Amino acid sequence: MADKPKRFPATRRVHEDGSTCTHKITSNGKPAEGQDCPGPTGYVFTCPPDGCADAYEVKAGTRAYVDERRRYHLRSSHF
Ligand SMILES: [Zn+2]
Ligand SMILES: [Zn+2]
Repeated sequence: MADKPKRFPATRRVHEDGSTCTHKITSNGKPAEGQDCPGPTGYVFTCPPDGCADAYEVKAGTRAYVDERRRYHLRSSHF
């Protein structure tokens, strides 16, 4: 599959300090063995100001909630 440029950022998993967590995570949400990860604390979606009239950010403990708000934001502000 060819790489398509993403129009909008995806929901990110983040650590407590706000940095993106790209570590392997087990199905119970804990860092996989051997991963140098302080542990994910939640999920963030940030809509960059250049893609959006109003900078928009949502942060929550569950991906489902953030994805829902992300979809809602993209539907209501970008289409
Ligand atoms: Zn991590
Ligand atoms: Zn936006």
